[in-house]
Order: sequence, then structure tokens, then C-alpha cells
Amino acid sequence: MANDLSTRLPQAFSARGDAAVQFPHFINGFFVASRDGRTFENRSPVDGSLIGKVAEGGQPEVDAAVAAARAALEGPWGKLTVVQRVDLLYAVADEINRRFDDFLSAEVADTGKPVSLASHLDIPRGAANFKIFADIIRNVPAETFEMNTPDGGTALNYALRVPRGVVAVVSPWNLPLLLMTWKVGPALACGNTVIVKPSEETPGTATLLGEVMNKVGIPPGVYNVVHGFGPDSAGEFLTSHPGINAITFTGETRTGSAIMKAASNGLRPVSFELGGKNAGIVFADADFDAAVDGIARAAFSNCGQVCLGTERVYVERPIFERFVTALKAKAEAMKPGIPQDKETGIGPLISLEHRSKVLSYYEKARAEGATVVTGGGVPEMPAALSNGSWVQPTIWTGLPETSAVIREEIFGPCCHIAPFDTEDEAVARANDTQYGLCTTVWTTNLSRAHRLAKRIEVGLCWINSWFLRDLRTPFGGSKQSGIGREGGVHSLEFYTDLRNVCVKLY
Ligand code: NAD
Repeated sequence: MANDLSTRLPQAFSARGDAAVQFPHFINGFFVASRDGRTFENRSPVDGSLIGKVAEGGQPEVDAAVAAARAALEGPWGKLTVVQRVDLLYAVADEINRRFDDFLSAEVADTGKPVSLASHLDIPRGAANFKIFADIIRNVPAETFEMNTPDGGTALNYALRVPRGVVAVVSPWNLPLLLMTWKVGPALACGNTVIVKPSEETPGTATLLGEVMNKVGIPPGVYNVVHGFGPDSAGEFLTSHPGINAITFTGETRTGSAIMKAASNGLRPVSFELGGKNAGIVFADADFDAAVDGIARAAFSNCGQVCLGTERVYVERPIFERFVTALKAKAEAMKPGIPQDKETGIGPLISLEHRSKVLSYYEKARAEGATVVTGGGVPEMPAALSNGSWVQPTIWTGLPETSAVIREEIFGPCCHIAPFDTEDEAVARANDTQYGLCTTVWTTNLSRAHRLAKRIEVGLCWINSWFLRDLRTPFGGSKQSGIGREGGVHSLEFYTDLRNVCVKLY
């Protein structure tokens, strides 16, 4: 990295407002602006105000990051033992927790999500992702066999886990720190180096993590961040770079297709966590209040911007009307407001652009003849917040299964509720989608619960629960919702290469 590019900003966030770029790249241990000085604006979804300028990366920044990451593989990082790496990753987790408030304010500023949500989910999980994968890599068993050889001798045959090399991490904006560290944690635990391309909407916590890496002594070049956009920008330059050995991506299915094309050049392995159009199924024998609570969380949490969220709800006919009324009450009780207000039940969408997309589905639903049970537009907000990306939680009924609102991922706080009569019908409707990320089923019939878990084509099936998972278990989508599984030891399959070593002893 040429020094003329490098501006050390050891406190990137405390320097906000003074420096020309508040969100610099982090390359080879340095906070740097783009070579051509290009930036883009990061605006608050709460009120549209300017948070800061973000360095806009191009080919030179990606090249520099790849060179730094490749060099770091050969440097001190590549020579560490697993136990030494584990100690460093524990230190990363501890330092995130020590700077909890900095991470919280960066995440909340970028996303506008309620502090109550980010402080319980995003930041603690962001830190935990380093500890969990440190523990997993330290404890993973190795296959070793003593074998006979044709000449009557003996050989020792074992599998050695080696890092893949330089991993590109392309992440979305809905759970920025959590989803990025979910990839960076295991990648580093396995001895790789990484280049992160965070979402252009949420540059904050990925940048801040650079300070943490420097503070705890992660060698330069091990963790790099290049900001920018997707096509014809940092995202595409990174994923098509020949110096990248593996690509892990979370985002839209369509983006996954574009990245897969880029990855095919050089046959780089991919791990994809993609979109969904998840079904929630509520049987008449379910614990009614628990089901209403669960579906309300699945539909409206994080303003509906959760890949695991439920936008299609199927309710057994005898309880259909009662369920619709109860869910309507839940939606209407969600008070939109600023992140810091304890009363806030729902924040804004990530951007005005995303709101236009969500509102276009609100229009489509009307045009297709939906009954709008509640919502369907933009809430009235105080003048100071009128430039924010606010949208009403929305429930529809009465649409045919062919409706765009039922078939396409909206990624907003909305769901369609339809009645069903039989278990087979519920399963068929749940499976009638190109996606296969998750489902949430509500019933007290144990046999039926197990039957549905087997029949619904998804990567994750929740019974009488939602968004509940031991982090050692596999996570990922079926059909067009993903490729591969991450989580627990499953992440190791992607972030390491298994080398077969056979040593002739006698
Ligand atoms: P997105 O696909 O628009 O963007 C994700 C990232 O990809 C961003 O960093 C973006 O800049 C980058 N990108 C875009 N085009 C690219 C290209 N051609 N080459 C390389 N990089 C490119 O997704 P988003 O809008 O940020 O996130 C919302 C989507 O993510 C939803 O579809 C949601 O379901 C999905 N998601 C899935 C999971 C999961 O675990 N399955 C989790 C969270 C979000």
C-alpha cells in the first residue's frame, strides 16, 4: 500500500466531521481514502440527515486489498498456531464488547433500528461470532488412521485443515455487523485473510472493526474493508478478482447469480445466503397467543428486513378470522419512532429507495384486489422525521397465490394471510415458491410437527418458535435461498480445504 494513500485514522469515528472521509477503507492496517478521492454519502434512514462521506472503492483499492491479504497469508498470521489465533479472536470479541456503545451507535446510525433490538441482537452476536468459531476450530477433531501398506509396512494417513486463502466477504445491510462477523469470524478462525465489502448502506461497523483489529494486534492485511457498490464497483471488482480464493455472500438471490458468474472464472467456491419468501403455518390446535406473538415478530421485526421473516401466513380456517384480528392489533400497536426511544416498536426501512420498492408492492396488492387489513402506506411522523424512510406495518388478505405480493420477496413489514383446510394443502402452498430458506409452524400436534419438518422444503424449520438457533447447528437455505451451510463445524467445510497427508512410517 503506497504511503501517499494512507491516512491513519486510529479513531475513525471520533474523527467524524473533521476528516474529509468519515468512512475510509481499511487496507493493510491503514484507514485510507480512495486513490481518486471518490466518495458517496451515507444518510440516516431516520431523518435523511448526512451521517458522513464514505470512500468509494474501485479497482485500485480492491487490488491493494487483495495484495495486502495475500501478503498477510505468508506473514506472521500464516505462522500462528490455532491456539494463538484463538487467543486473538477472543481478544477481538472482548474489544467489541469493551467498545459496545461505539458499535451500537454506529449500527443504529446506519440502520435506524431500535437501540433495544441492536443492543440485544446485533452487537452481542457480532462479538460472539468471534468466540464461537474460535472455540469450534480449537475443538474440531481431526481424522487420523494408521494403515497397512501393500509392502507390509505401515503408514499414517490424516486430514489436515488448511485455510482456503483470501476470502471475499460481501454482506448486506439488514444485520450488518452480525452477518459480516458470521463470515469473518470463521474465516479468520480457519487461518484465512479477508476482504469485506459491506453494504453501501451500512459502512459503519465494518470500518470500526478495523480499529479493533489494530488494537488487539491482528496483523495488517488479515482484515481489510473496501467500501463501494455492487455492479461495476467494489463488489464486482472484488468477486471477479483472480487473487480471491473463495467468496461468501449474503444478499439477494439475483445478486447471488451475478456473483456466481464472477466466481466461475477460476472456479472459486461460493457460500451463499440468499433471499426468501418464507411461510408461517398456524394450525387451529396451536397455542393461539404464542402463535400470534411469533408471527408478529417474524413479520415485523427489524421493520420486516430479516431474511428469515414471514411474508406468507397460512392459518387453519377455524381460527382464521380471530388470527387476522389479533395480528392486526399487534401491527397497530407497533409505534414507529427514533431508535433511542424505549417506546419505539418499529424503525424506518433502510433507505428511501428501499421504501419505494416496498410501497410499490403495497400498490400492487391494492391493484390485485387485496383487502388491506391494516397499514398500506406511510405513517404520519413529526416534521423532523419526515425525510425518514418510514412505512406502516401492513397486512393483506384475499389475494390469489399467483399475486406478486405472495410470490416475490418484499423485505418490508408486511404479510398476506390466507386460510387453509388441510395439512396437505398447507404444505403444498408453503412449498409453492422458488425459495426455501425457512418456515415457522405453530401446532401442538407433535407428530404433525415432525411430518411438516420433513415435508417443507427449507433449510430451517421452526416449530412453535422463530429465530431460535444454537449457533453450533447448520444454517442456510434450500432451493434459490442459498448454496451451502454455515454455522458450527459446517462453516469449517467452506473456510478450509482438507488436505490428505499420508506418511509412510515403515
Ligand atoms: P443485495 O444483494 O442488494 O446486496 C448485498 C451486497 O452485495 C451489498 O454489499 C452489495 O453492494 C453487493 N452487491 C450487489 N451487487 C453486486 C454484484 N454484482 N457483485 C458483487 N457484489 C454485489 O442485498 P441487500 O439488499 O443488501 O440485502 C437484502 C437481501 O439479503 C434480501 O434478499 C435478503 O433476503 C437477503 N438476506 C439473506 C440472508 C440469509 O441468511 N439467507 C440474510 C440477510 C439478508
